[in-house]
Amino acid sequence: MDSFYDTLEARIDLPDTRLLIGGERRDSVTGKSFETLNPATGTVIASVAQAEAGDVDLAVKAARAALGGPWKTLTGAQRGRLLNKLADLLEKNSEALVQLESLDAGKPLAATRRQDIPAAIDCLRYYAGWADKIDGVVVPARADALTYVKREPVGVVAAIVPWNFPLMNAVWKVAPAIACGCAVVLKPAELTPLTALRLGELALEAGIPPGVLNIVPGFGTGAGQALIEHPGVDKIAFTGSPAVGKHIMAVAAQTCKRVTLELGGKSANLVFADADIEGAVRASSSGIFFNAGQVCSAGSRILVQESIHDQFVELLSARAAKIKLGDPFDTTTTMGPLISAVQQQRVQDHIEAGRKEGAQIAFGGAQVEGAGFYVQPTIFARANNSMGIAQDEIFGPVATVIPFADEREAVQIANDSRYSLAAAVWTRDVTRAHQVANALRAGTVWINTYGHTDTRLPWGGYGGDSGVGRDLGRAALENYTEQKTIWLHLGMAA
Ligand code: NAP
Ligand code: MG
Repeated sequence: MDSFYDTLEARIDLPDTRLLIGGERRDSVTGKSFETLNPATGTVIASVAQAEAGDVDLAVKAARAALGGPWKTLTGAQRGRLLNKLADLLEKNSEALVQLESLDAGKPLAATRRQDIPAAIDCLRYYAGWADKIDGVVVPARADALTYVKREPVGVVAAIVPWNFPLMNAVWKVAPAIACGCAVVLKPAELTPLTALRLGELALEAGIPPGVLNIVPGFGTGAGQALIEHPGVDKIAFTGSPAVGKHIMAVAAQTCKRVTLELGGKSANLVFADADIEGAVRASSSGIFFNAGQVCSAGSRILVQESIHDQFVELLSARAAKIKLGDPFDTTTTMGPLISAVQQQRVQDHIEAGRKEGAQIAFGGAQVEGAGFYVQPTIFARANNSMGIAQDEIFGPVATVIPFADEREAVQIANDSRYSLAAAVWTRDVTRAHQVANALRAGTVWINTYGHTDTRLPWGGYGGDSGVGRDLGRAALENYTEQKTIWLHLGMAA
């Protein structure tokens, strides 16, 4: 008898799994392919053409050719219309995209429905709105000249993205790049290539000219490495791990490519004794357990004032006990599997290390037997900030709760990290809320809430292992435009 997933995989409409280069479907130059798995079962969903250096070269050349073609002559308003058309097509296909993303990345349907796909659509529409508003300035530098500064597309953009929010992260780069008139070569993570391939198809259907968006699934060491080395790439827009981000920066230095790096996090979530504790517990729980903790801004270090530490841990554990770990396609599931067996093992190893370091396990921690890459929601209590479980990004459903005495100590612990992506503060004291928000070294600080992002607001780290540069908001337009100064000699005034 067919299993549920045999029938599910047959039912879900898969994209063409060949590479998309210059508007055409191609097998890889080497003829190689790789398999993408369903993380809930470990079974193969599809075989996907595997791009390597030869394919990347073709894709970069196709992008370069597109930049010199009709794309160059379109107005900003026309580019905006194309992006809106692409958003319309995503909307029209949203349920199919939800299912495809949930299948490939093991994400609960409710989450892809509520967040991944709507966020991608919103991002396309936001940058569609910017496309005809990218203007320059006249700077009256001298009386004998007309001097002005205009913005031009940076050129060919290599977008390299991870597997935790596959489509959304891709669109965070593709949408502003296209709004600014660039051409893109997108390398999705090899664990989750399917929605990127669909995005490429829909872009063509929307009328975005061939070569403006090329999709080259493959491995980091193959397609990724070829992209970052390629002399025809002008800018690298990367989201992923600190180790790969640092490697990219070093390689990009050889050809002085522009680089933005959205990397990891070990975000501190500060809960003061005067906070709305119930609200803090609720948001802290989703802050660490959403997407099974595979979120760059996961609130993985929960700093709790000593006087409420035990009560907080008890309430958080009670909430964790209600999480329903299971099949992403079961609508009652609230936490799906991790992305891969490797990631599952990595997270279990972190849990073991935390145990050995002497942190108390307040909840979870046991291995989940059976098929699929599941990990229990796990809470460590009474940890201290020098432990590995407080310093290292686990990228799984593991909360590390650390007690603190007062505001000064809370800020000191929060900032004692290699990471700087996000943080939160919970208090009813408005002065303290702002003081602490100002003192935290993080690209985003939430007050009395956790985890929101919005297309309109810049997103990124304050350096270190969280990376440099900003996605989203107006800030992202800087990533994809170059400034050109034009100096017209007028001669001396009479
Ligand atoms: P990763 O291993 O760094 O992979 C990210 C992407 O880089 C993948 O497409 C990967 O390809 C590719 N890659 C690997 N080696 C490469 C190389 N030598 N040259 C070019 N590309 C290469 O990260 P991950 O494990 O997939 O993702 C988790 C990390 O991403 C976490 O640290 C997380 O915090 C971070 N993240 C940050 C944000 C943010 O907004 N700041 C958002 C999401 C995730 P393959 O994997 O296909 O080999
Ligand atoms: Mg997969």
